[in-house]
Amino acid sequence: MRHYVKIKTVQDLIDRIEGQNVRILCGGTDLVVKMRAGAIDPQVLLDISDTEDLRGISEEKDAVTIGAATTVSEIIADPVVAEKLPLLQTVLRTLGSTQIRNRATLGGNLVNASPAADSAIPLLLYQALVNISGVRGDRVVEIEDFLIAPGKTALKSDEFVRSVSIPIPRAAFKPFFHKVGRRKAMIIAIASLGALVSVKDDKIDEIRLAAGSVAPRPIRLHELEDNLAGKAITADIIEQAKLAAVHAVSPIDDVRASADYRREVIGELVARVLRDAVQG
Ligand SMILES: Cc1cc2nc3c(=O)[nH]c(=O)nc-3n(C[C@H](O)[C@H](O)[C@H](O)COP(=O)(O)OP(=O)(O)OC[C@H]3O[C@@H](n4cnc5c(N)ncnc54)[C@H](O)[C@@H]3O)c2cc1C
Repeated sequence: MRHYVKIKTVQDLIDRIEGQNVRILCGGTDLVVKMRAGAIDPQVLLDISDTEDLRGISEEKDAVTIGAATTVSEIIADPVVAEKLPLLQTVLRTLGSTQIRNRATLGGNLVNASPAADSAIPLLLYQALVNISGVRGDRVVEIEDFLIAPGKTALKSDEFVRSVSIPIPRAAFKPFFHKVGRRKAMIIAIASLGALVSVKDDKIDEIRLAAGSVAPRPIRLHELEDNLAGKAITADIIEQAKLAAVHAVSPIDDVRASADYRREVIGELVARVLRDAVQG
């Protein structure tokens, strides 16, 4: 028989996390779907959805920290997020439906580690830090090192995500986000692109680009970013960037789209971001 435990404190979680076939349950929007499909069959479920120490949003001097069990709807509605991290709010508004957003959590989205995980795009752009706790203590991992492959993160079996700390970006950064899917509502991205762009004297001062659903994990396009820094955004540069983006990604064919289509979409989205950045 399956054993279900409502976790009250972080210490309670640390005390129970070790063991065969133990799984953390938060919103359940990924886990329960997998259990119903028979893909996994955990014997012990540790429900952290009401664990106070894992919930809430706090602002420090240079960063905003969001508890892992904070729901997507709570993050979207938060005034600090709206003011300091507008790209996070914009992106999370596109995650699932209202019912899904009311249950889905930031920690669950990251640990599920889908190549299409929407929250990863703004977190990669903001260079977020994942605060991990476990039986052997606490550690901090950069978001780029946390996401490893589909369903795989840097977490060890006796660890969990406690919160995510997001450095507040410079005001000069303009945010952009495009998500392409097969239908308007509840789209899991066929490809997505987020960007932070700062333009100075008609040249790119700094650009950060992050892409989803076009590699085994959501990725930053570092080489392209480095090549664009310091350049004026001309038609030639946009065309070069589009081609570079097509080659920078490594998508797969699946039921939702072909790899070639995904490459093409990412090229187009990079071009769109650059055109929009220069226009306004
Ligand atoms: C209809 C539908 C539409 C969806 N649309 C989108 C979409 O548009 N974009 C998108 O990105 N996702 C989408 N999802 C996926 C899902 O809603 C999100 O990934 C959600 O954020 C998962 O959070 P959760 O709290 O429900 O996770 P859960 O299902 O509770 O857990 C997911 C995994 O994370 C682990 N886990 C949870 N919290 C922690 C923690 N703090 N520490 C360690 N491990 C933890 C669990 O053990 C499990 O392995 C959709 C899902 C459905 C069913």
